[in-house]
Amino acid sequence: MRLRNIPGAKDELKQYPNIVVHDPSQHKGSWKKVFNNENPIHVEVGTGKGQFLVGMSELHPHINFIGIEKYDSVLLRALEQVKDLDRPNLKFLNEDVADILNFFNKGELERLFINFTDPWPKNRHEKRRLTYKGFLEMYEQILVDGGEIHFKTDNQGLFEYSLESFSGYGMTLHNVSLDLHRSGIKGNVMTEYERKFSRKGMRIYRCESKFRS
Ligand code: SAM
Repeated sequence: MRLRNIPGAKDELKQYPNIVVHDPSQHKGSWKKVFNNENPIHVEVGTGKGQFLVGMSELHPHINFIGIEKYDSVLLRALEQVKDLDRPNLKFLNEDVADILNFFNKGELERLFINFTDPWPKNRHEKRRLTYKGFLEMYEQILVDGGEIHFKTDNQGLFEYSLESFSGYGMTLHNVSLDLHRSGIKGNVMTEYERKFSRKGMRIYRCESKFRS
């Protein structure tokens, strides 16, 4: 996501410890205590400006949501959306997804969302794609048995790559859509990229993939 660097963004994020959790490794294994309930936890990796999770957390008050975004200036835009809302089931981490095993224990999460992740089209950058098998290995460790990844993208090449990556890893594929907005799906919450691309008439690809239970 292209966004100019906002001076002081990191310090601003620190002003809201109830929304942006600092040093998340401290809470590894005890996120239910952070949320103060036993509800399932869903995580969006590469959350951007947070529009998806703001919508999801309103629609599903009995699910806890965590968004992970590595750029502080981008996350600040998410914070601006939520800081005046009463949304106890939504938290953000200003972290790199590559470090996700430091933040969650085995089986601590029920579901993961990957929305409009950077496609990294060059072969030599394959390992950076958030659907690369190296990331799937990490996700499998922190999701419950049979945990799911819900994936959306506008990028056909990344979609094809990801379907192969999921099934090559032994995951099963469900509800695969090659044109989400014409599929009649109910309850879809749009991300900021989804809104932007669909306004341009681009089709949105979506699938759910499930680890072995
Ligand atoms: N999910 C949002 C959406 O659908 O509108 C944002 C999509 S944007 C193309 C991808 C976002 O993922 C960017 O904000 C980028 O900084 C973030 N991102 C990419 N790789 C990441 C990583 N390894 N860890 C954390 N965030 C990452």
